[in-house]
Amino acid sequence: MLRLLLLFLATLDVSLSTDTLKQGEILYVSIGSEEPGLVSFYYRGDPYHLLPFNDRLVAMIGTSYHTNPGRKDVRVVFRQGMSEEVVDTFVQVVDKNFRKSVITLPPSKQRTIDASEKERKQREYEEVVEVLNARSGTYYSLIPEMFPCARKISGTYGDERWTNGRKLWHHSGLDIAVAEGTPILAPCAGVVVMARDTFIRQGTFVILDHGMGLKSLYYHMIEKNVENGDIVKAGDTLGFAGSTGIATGPHLHMGLYVHGVPVDPLFWLERKEPF
Ligand SMILES: [Zn+2]
Repeated sequence: MLRLLLLFLATLDVSLSTDTLKQGEILYVSIGSEEPGLVSFYYRGDPYHLLPFNDRLVAMIGTSYHTNPGRKDVRVVFRQGMSEEVVDTFVQVVDKNFRKSVITLPPSKQRTIDASEKERKQREYEEVVEVLNARSGTYYSLIPEMFPCARKISGTYGDERWTNGRKLWHHSGLDIAVAEGTPILAPCAGVVVMARDTFIRQGTFVILDHGMGLKSLYYHMIEKNVENGDIVKAGDTLGFAGSTGIATGPHLHMGLYVHGVPVDPLFWLERKEPF
């Protein structure tokens, strides 16, 4: 892995997985201190919890489709008694150049899609957002051990749809085109924080909380195999692929959230040793 060694003092070393991220990518932070003390981590001025991991402290920071390119400040503070060490650095977020496709939708059809059951869709969307933004519970794992199903990618994070020079939509997750009934497996351990089967857009779906601000979601299943509160390990069957909700055919829509920020699930799935 690319590891940027920022500073090596007697007490503290800070490793960032990269110094340049594309929109939607995850920054993996790993901090080691040779002496006991209190380590605090800040990204863009906001404090983040650190997780003890392999004798170090780690954190994940998400960037998204909406993150403005540019310099993002990173600060690590080490306190021991009266003494304090501060490491200031930064990462650059650069434009991802998301894929654009131009479509033509007859206005009549667009109106039908937008108008039907608008209030219920909004209510359901808000329920999902509330779960995604809620503080993470118990820590299970940050490391994916497998893809949720075969790697038949049909849509990537950030894909844009344009019509008449106007952006209609962008994709907030990863689409995997698998046959109806294909088992959808948990890529890593977690607890089921939402499992529902009647939502208009999402259809039958499951949201997992992996702890430390990491959550993953799985939409459009024909059937779910878990319930709210179930604890799953990597490889457990969450449900079966389908096309429930708003979907043009059987596929899995997977989303990934880091402290409520929608990141690229593929980036996470492909990184085997993040820290
Ligand atoms: Zn999708």
